[in-house]
Amino acid sequence: CGIVGYVGPQSALDVVTAGLKRLEYRGYDSAGVAVQADGGLATAKRAGKLVNLEKELSERPLPAGTTGIGHTRWATHGGPTDANAHPHLDNAGRVAVVHNGIIENFAALREELTERGHELSSETDTEVVAHLLAEEYSACADLAEAMRLVCRRLEGAFTLVAVHADEPDVVVGARRNSPLVVGVGEGETFLASDVAAFIAHTREAIELGQDQVVELRRDAVTVTDFAGAPADVREYHVDWDA
Ligand code: GLU
Repeated sequence: CGIVGYVGPQSALDVVTAGLKRLEYRGYDSAGVAVQADGGLATAKRAGKLVNLEKELSERPLPAGTTGIGHTRWATHGGPTDANAHPHLDNAGRVAVVHNGIIENFAALREELTERGHELSSETDTEVVAHLLAEEYSACADLAEAMRLVCRRLEGAFTLVAVHADEPDVVVGARRNSPLVVGVGEGETFLASDVAAFIAHTREAIELGQDQVVELRRDAVTVTDFAGAPADVREYHVDWDA
């Protein structure tokens, strides 16, 4: 339902949870975050309101990190449980993904992954994406390229945002029939399903087009289509008051 991603010098957890709060008005049933820390990924997720996630984070604090993603979920596949909350991870816990929308062909992908030895631990349509990204990443070692390869295999409507433990200070996003906006700050970049999530930090935005993948670094935003061809981007200024 709501998605936030951050790369920069600030605490990713603070930026992402504040962003999720700005998206609360959309309604949701669960929330979660993943942060790059100590060469790996640290995650927390809880069914219920953001206050449940905040309680979990105060009882079991995550290590500090400056790159992260977050999600508020409106369940479509699998009930609103802790296990079904996003982010979803691959079996090695090296890639984390959050998703808005529906992956129509998830059942076939799930079967295929299970046959290859993956163990899926949720009832969501989303989890297949984490496992597919891990497979593609192990072959190409490039998260944006892995995302392009995976998106070409997905049917349905999706905004996807992912981080990989082996790509520090990088967040990758993709969209088809579901919105995704980039925020461009000074030495920091943002991704969100709605500009409301980041306008406290920057008003310079880029709206992603249909079937595009974006790679965010602190000082760079690279947009391509699903085949890898560079895409034209239109930066605009958000001038409404939040
Ligand atoms: N289909 C996904 C799920 O049920 C994403 C739902 C959403 O858009 O929040 O987990």
